[in-house]
Amino acid sequence: MVEDITKISIKNTDHSRLSSVDWDNLPFGKVFSDHMFTMNYANGQWENPEIVPYGNINMSPATSVLHYGQSCFEGMKAHKNDNGEILLFRVNENIERLNISAERMCMPEIPKELFVEALKTLLELDRDWVPSIDGYSLYIRPFIIATDPYVGIRPSETYKFIIFTCPVGAYYSSSVPVKIETEYSRAVQGGTGYAKAAGNYAAALYPAKLGQDNGYTQLIWTDAKEHKYIEEAGTMNIIFRLGDKLISPKSGDTILNGITKRSVLDIARSWGYEVEERKVTVQEIIKSFENGTIKEAFGAGTAATIASINCIHYNDQDYFLPEPSEDFFSTKVLSFLNDYKKGLIEDKFNWLIRF
Ligand SMILES: *Cc1c(COP(=O)(O)O)cnc(C)c1O
Repeated sequence: MVEDITKISIKNTDHSRLSSVDWDNLPFGKVFSDHMFTMNYANGQWENPEIVPYGNINMSPATSVLHYGQSCFEGMKAHKNDNGEILLFRVNENIERLNISAERMCMPEIPKELFVEALKTLLELDRDWVPSIDGYSLYIRPFIIATDPYVGIRPSETYKFIIFTCPVGAYYSSSVPVKIETEYSRAVQGGTGYAKAAGNYAAALYPAKLGQDNGYTQLIWTDAKEHKYIEEAGTMNIIFRLGDKLISPKSGDTILNGITKRSVLDIARSWGYEVEERKVTVQEIIKSFENGTIKEAFGAGTAATIASINCIHYNDQDYFLPEPSEDFFSTKVLSFLNDYKKGLIEDKFNWLIRF
């Protein structure tokens, strides 16, 4: 049972670091805003919701998350418009997804109202950290970790939920070469691929590094059983344009249900494109290079929004795509989404929360 804990206590920092931020050289994910939200789970309930100055957390070396990875996270962005309003994009869906991840990892859910309240209170306090400069945003990282100081393997009885934020700059996304991975797997049926579970990312590092050593920035993951079906591109969903049709592997057990992908496809439908979410075979994509129907391929995810692909490697062969031009779907949808998230166009899909 969750107690009614709507009172968030606030400890303000006495030395804001805001004035020391070098906005022209802002590395991704290394500069942290002044405050963070934390709350603990014990005796079957969440308690002590508080906002404190951003800082280290103390824990026993035996803390179970450090050994067995019982942990999950989310990633979203806040924008600020020219009137100084903060805008959150489809944030309820991130909250729902964190709770889906938490269930799979045997962790307690975060009550939705409390999550929204925590996030709004934190962003209100660090309002000046939300950039309004074009292309900039505030990256938001909520996560849950298992905190029992216990080396035995079982679900922890205590947890910590934290939200911290990072101002981030424009993501200069030149298009990237990728490789279709046919040896290693990111996710298996019955596994944790649909969850943003920490271990998924640790397991992907080595195959990704091998790909990078060969000059491919990201891997295109395929199904673990036959390596026949395309699943995702690195830590993004993947979308292809064949003629005037957009196709993307259907989210499920092994494919994370990305909010950027859903948004891109919703926009595409509203623009009159034919959209198919279904199984996509490697062969279909290779054929589309051979018969010239493939026009675009790109990853979709919160960090970059759109990452264009300029080369796909498969079976010792490189298949090339042109650099995106102004009239490419991916260019148009990127600029539409950027404007949408900044509140520059009508919120016709009802995706924004502003405060
Ligand atoms: C987070 C993530 C995505 C993209 O999801 P968004 O909601 O669009 O940010 C896609 N694939 C994986 C594996 C991810 O972790």
